[in-house]
Amino acid sequence: MDEIAFHALSVDETFAALNSSMQGLSSQEAARRLRVHGSNDLVSAKSRSRLAILFSQFKDLLVVVLIVAGFISFGIALVENSWENYRSGTIIFLIVIADAALGFSLEYNASRIVRKLRTLIFSPARAIRDKRLTEIPLQTLVPGDVIDIEQGDKIPADLRIVESNNLQTNEFSLTGESMPVDKTTERFAADLTVADRRNMAFAGTSVASGSGMGVVVFTGMRTELGKIATMTEETIEVRSPLQDELNVLAVRLTVVAGAVSGVLLVLALWLGLGWLVAVTYALGVAVACVPQALPAQLIVAMSSASQHLARKNAVVKSLPTVEALGSTNVICTDKTGTLTRNEMTVTRAWSNERELELTGVGYQPEGEVLDEAGNPVSEEDLQALSLLFRTAILASAGTVHPPDDQHENWYAVGDPSEAALVVMAMKAGAFDGKIEESPKLRSFPFDPGRKRMSFIRRLPEGDCVMMKGATDSILDVCVSMLKDGGVQPMTQGDRERIEDWNIASSDQALRVLALAYRPLNGDFESASLEETERDMVFLGLVGMIDPPRRGVREAMAKCHNAGIDTYMITGDHAATAAAIARDIGLARADGRTVRVVRGKEMAGLGDEELAYMMRSNSALIFSRVEPAHKLRVVRLLGEQGRVVAVTGDGINDAPALKRAHIGVAMGKTGVDVAKEIAEVVLLDDNFSTLVDAVEEGRSIYSNIRKVVLASLTTNVAELLAVLFGLVGIAVGNYAIPMLTIQILAIDLMAEILPLTFLCFDPPTPDDMKRRPRNRSDHILNAATGIEVGFFGSLIGALSVANFFLYMHRHGLTLGQDAIGTIEYARASAMTWLTMAFCQFGNILSRRYQNVSIFNSNILTNKILLASIIISAVQSFAAVHAPGINDFLGFAPIGIVDWLYILAAAGVFLAFWEGLKWMRRRPMQTV
Ligand code: ATP
Repeated sequence: MDEIAFHALSVDETFAALNSSMQGLSSQEAARRLRVHGSNDLVSAKSRSRLAILFSQFKDLLVVVLIVAGFISFGIALVENSWENYRSGTIIFLIVIADAALGFSLEYNASRIVRKLRTLIFSPARAIRDKRLTEIPLQTLVPGDVIDIEQGDKIPADLRIVESNNLQTNEFSLTGESMPVDKTTERFAADLTVADRRNMAFAGTSVASGSGMGVVVFTGMRTELGKIATMTEETIEVRSPLQDELNVLAVRLTVVAGAVSGVLLVLALWLGLGWLVAVTYALGVAVACVPQALPAQLIVAMSSASQHLARKNAVVKSLPTVEALGSTNVICTDKTGTLTRNEMTVTRAWSNERELELTGVGYQPEGEVLDEAGNPVSEEDLQALSLLFRTAILASAGTVHPPDDQHENWYAVGDPSEAALVVMAMKAGAFDGKIEESPKLRSFPFDPGRKRMSFIRRLPEGDCVMMKGATDSILDVCVSMLKDGGVQPMTQGDRERIEDWNIASSDQALRVLALAYRPLNGDFESASLEETERDMVFLGLVGMIDPPRRGVREAMAKCHNAGIDTYMITGDHAATAAAIARDIGLARADGRTVRVVRGKEMAGLGDEELAYMMRSNSALIFSRVEPAHKLRVVRLLGEQGRVVAVTGDGINDAPALKRAHIGVAMGKTGVDVAKEIAEVVLLDDNFSTLVDAVEEGRSIYSNIRKVVLASLTTNVAELLAVLFGLVGIAVGNYAIPMLTIQILAIDLMAEILPLTFLCFDPPTPDDMKRRPRNRSDHILNAATGIEVGFFGSLIGALSVANFFLYMHRHGLTLGQDAIGTIEYARASAMTWLTMAFCQFGNILSRRYQNVSIFNSNILTNKILLASIIISAVQSFAAVHAPGINDFLGFAPIGIVDWLYILAAAGVFLAFWEGLKWMRRRPMQTV
């Protein structure tokens, strides 16, 4: 079928070629075609194959170091025929394989989860199936399906346009054309390039404006986009700041490991240990120093956070985004629907004749219209206001519906502000036959730049423009108003009264809309927007409440504590925005009112002045903004080096979403284009969810920090044990406390699992009490270096102490030549087990900086506890299981010996608890 040039066929010929019609397909036929053509999916081609994921496990620097060390070990083993080196080489490769297996399974799993989550984001396609317009998942579209498309929709497959109502698409992603392209239903010559096929709409492009219908001609990899995807297989990788930091850390640790092993090599040679033993030691220690599982652990941390987030209604498109969210220091948020519920109820209305109050809640059309004194307005008076109420309905596209299977209460379909207007009119009894008899002839949809919308309607009394919008925007086009029962010119005094009511209502956090109309006489078919929206008659104002969302106040407080600046960017009036800001505590606790910058004022400010204002205010409101203003704010913040998360839902928000570090689209109200561009999609459109996401992001950093520090702690301990051993040889030819292979085995048997699952730690309240992380901060700094040095030395000292205590208790003086004897095997088991069990205590203690490990949250990371139990069993097996203990050079020890090990772990824990107690102390005295 792909040879057919559908753009060269007429609409009828296209339908004939596809064996379809304007009535679409039956579900049965669609199911059959789905089996033939496969799912309408590009993701599988774009996503990394299993093999690619497997190979990627071996390309991290830390793993490369390990592999090189393994080969050197085997090389020495072959040349010298040394059993010790065979064993070391085997263990090194076992570590590599265990890591790769762990990394692969975690990363593969994570990529599957991310893929699955992506399917949650996009709205279903509206296709005609079984002669009805139904919503179906994008993946199930097949050639022959007829679909409906409108502004903001992502084109889900290649379409031949069969109906166009001023349809325009953005094709930049496909053809590089930056201007929207008009789409028609005409046929074209066969030899046109993709860019010129103006009767086709292509997958991956989006509807810029207008609406239309198209018949699907190609799906999945057979679309133009699919062909490009197969050619380039391009995937743009987002890197998180932490990935960059870990890369730096990897290089540093490799250098340190190289230097340390060099020193050890020289030391061992100087002690006369022979080059074989010296190289083996140096290599073992180098390998032990390398936290090769870190890349896999980072993936665990990120994928665990992304799953938590999905449960909380935030979908991240790639794993590094979650971590990047954690370093956010400014959030630019919309107001309506993100901070507020977007559930509007009209509570006040005003016309020149009177001031009205409305009772009732939600979209239920039950309530009264009262006058200023609180008395019900008479039927007669309502009748006098009927044009206001009818315009409220006739200038709206939103509707309200009674409760049904899926809705407990009356509910809105379409724009909530419009639904609220309809409810108001219903309460006033204006919903009568005249409404149904007033068909829509033309529409000039709402756009956030113009801030108004209008319909031309055929009313029983004649054709009219019915309009509504922001008060200032309506006043701009009004010349007269309804006054004293007739249309009169609008005076300056009238404008002031209107403006006063507008401000007074906005101050009460009400969203105000103005209504206007104009009778038409003459031709309107070809009239432009400007010709239609002029000389209007002002009818009145309505004020609607839109309460703040539950939890937003708390989320705002969290942002303040976490040092995150919050800017509200809204199309609404300054006074409404300021009132909502007061309600939700947008300003920090210092109580200052928030600075409001109006769109018009912004236009007069230079970049430097605006940037200064942003630097000096932790909370700001940008009101009555146009889409371009949002982009400007985001750009300036970016230029200041701040990490910006910005929310958006409309097609006009796309540039700002793209420009921000983290674009956040609204899952419910957002158009597909916004969701496509954004890195995060909030399924519930809620600001609090975004703050939760930042919290999860921060927890990744703190979890990885814990892992790095915990793993370096044992490295210090191992190094110390080896150094001690070498000194022992120098002073009295004593046996060393630990063999190389045993050092390696700590990684494999006692560390990898608990360190990995430490990444599953949920966020702690501390995460949102810190200021945002500075990019120049590093995990390993002077303070953490001292801490690691101290606890590492402590573990090293306790392990070596248990080695000597064992010898002492059993009256032994083990010399170098005792290596290989059962007593030496037992003594070194003591060193090894002490190290392993202290590390368990270390990992558990690292979960909280100041809080004792014996707290009520001990069970919040059950998988960590399980992994410690498994590692403890493995450590027991290392010493007691025949075969394994032989291989590792251990021999079983007695119960009393075990008590010594547990006592050492207890002493280690006591030190940790002591440090935490000291850290907590100053807070208690406050
Ligand atoms: P946000 O905080 O998300 O920017 P907003 O709805 O106030 O919320 P816009 O959608 O840009 O921002 O709307 C700007 C103004 O246009 C509103 O304050 C309102 O006065 C007016 N307006 C909004 N929706 C409609 C509509 N459907 N019809 C007419 N006017 C509208």
